[in-house]
Amino acid sequence: MITAPPPTRSIQFASDNYSGICPEALDYLLTANAGDVPAYGEDEWTQRATDKFRDIFEIDCEVFFVFNGTAANSLTLASLCQSYHSVICHELAHVETDECGAPEFASNGSKLLLAQGRNGKLDPAHVEQLITKRTDIHYPKPKVISLTQATEVGTLYTVDELVAITARARHYGLRVHMDGARFANALVASGKTPAELTWRAGIDVLCCCGTKNGMGIGEAILFFDKALAEDFAYRCKQAGQLCSKMRFISAPWLGLLETGAWLRNAEHANRMAAYLEQQLRDVPEIKLLFPRQANGVFVQMPQPLIDELYRRGWKFYTFIGTDGARLMCAWNTTVAAIDALMADIRDAV
Ligand SMILES: *Cc1c(COP(=O)(O)O)cnc(C)c1O
Repeated sequence: MITAPPPTRSIQFASDNYSGICPEALDYLLTANAGDVPAYGEDEWTQRATDKFRDIFEIDCEVFFVFNGTAANSLTLASLCQSYHSVICHELAHVETDECGAPEFASNGSKLLLAQGRNGKLDPAHVEQLITKRTDIHYPKPKVISLTQATEVGTLYTVDELVAITARARHYGLRVHMDGARFANALVASGKTPAELTWRAGIDVLCCCGTKNGMGIGEAILFFDKALAEDFAYRCKQAGQLCSKMRFISAPWLGLLETGAWLRNAEHANRMAAYLEQQLRDVPEIKLLFPRQANGVFVQMPQPLIDELYRRGWKFYTFIGTDGARLMCAWNTTVAAIDALMADIRDAV
């Protein structure tokens, strides 16, 4: 008999990584558990998941699987940089604010240069200014632009906005990394194809959402320019990011991709966030901080209201890049949970 600790009240809006494993990923995980297969990614599940990414992104890319997003981002950035290079990112970027210096650590010191821009998005003009403001040997040479899609504040880059940035990168000989911890949310919201939103728009490498989309563990890294992936497998191994029983990451990934669950999960999370936004708009004490374009709603709430919601057991973050509250929806967020939150909000104000 298994005894489990009591689950956290499922009515939470703290993060899409509070959620469990979605049924499709779990089915494939359990199926992959039958029998023995070769280790270290030499198995058929990993081959099939890799090929499925190539189909879906319409390109013969190199695909790697690692345990989490911090590893995906920091190892990718390290592989695109020498230690004397720099990475331009938004001041609210996860690589800057939430990875404990992992990109700098993995790269032996490549410095992050912080750019500004409205709604969590890089301003191309400010990026260009950072690239060109110094060319002397005393300044770390800009080599990569890192952008997040969907952004840390729940907004989206349009294809035109991506191209405005990637064109400048090309012009000055920089590479472009996309942190796609919520790429599927951006994808379904944009109505574009995976190719249109990445390599056709000039993205060189994508770190692609597994965990927040409905996996238990595991992000995928897609190098659209295969030459950039040279020796990347060694970097993963050295960093402790080569899973020996790789099928337990790659099979759930195949489940997400083959069944279309990755898109359905993202669509559901986005739809729930849209519903939550619509409800919140009716509360005069609450102000929307950013356009709600994916699965997160960012609002300004009076502090006594925040305190009261916490007292009633609600979980959400109030420290992510803004002075407001972040309400995050996931593949398993329910209308009932949103209605219960709204009832408590209306009662408390
Ligand atoms: C969650 C997240 C990541 C990955 O975080 P890990 O905790 O390392 O898996 C990366 N980028 C963004 C924007 C995120 O929200």
